[in-house]
Amino acid sequence: MNEELRDLYQDVIVEHSKRPRNYHALDAPARSAHGYNPLCGDTVKVYVQVDDGVLADVSFEGSGCAISTASASVMTDAIKGKSAEETEALFEKFHDLVTGRQEGDIEDGDLGKLTVFGGVSEFPARVKCATLCWHTLRAAIAGRDTPVTSE
Ligand code: ZN
Repeated sequence: MNEELRDLYQDVIVEHSKRPRNYHALDAPARSAHGYNPLCGDTVKVYVQVDDGVLADVSFEGSGCAISTASASVMTDAIKGKSAEETEALFEKFHDLVTGRQEGDIEDGDLGKLTVFGGVSEFPARVKCATLCWHTLRAAIAGRDTPVTSE
């Protein structure tokens, strides 16, 4: 990754962590789940309104490091309006990206703004910060309200 691109990605992460999108609660009957990353202290609560298998609305609340907040912010933007299946496929690609398992260059078309987290793969301790909101989202979609930990 060249330096210019890295700086751009860093800017997007900082901006989302300072002014997170979709940062609010959703009323019932929206589903929700809690997530906690004990390694960093990040906590997140993800809300999702599922209508006919589509994530009609997604939001979150919580507190944590810049990576965890920015990740939840970008995630909620990225998956709103997608089906649960599309979201699962996107999670797998995102997981490959942040764990460095992705082969070759990331295609923008697949991950969109989520590609800004590609640099996380160089910092294994931060992978759980970036994926906590996704694990929590999956629990919310599945209707599991037992707390999710990143372990
Ligand atoms: Zn963190």
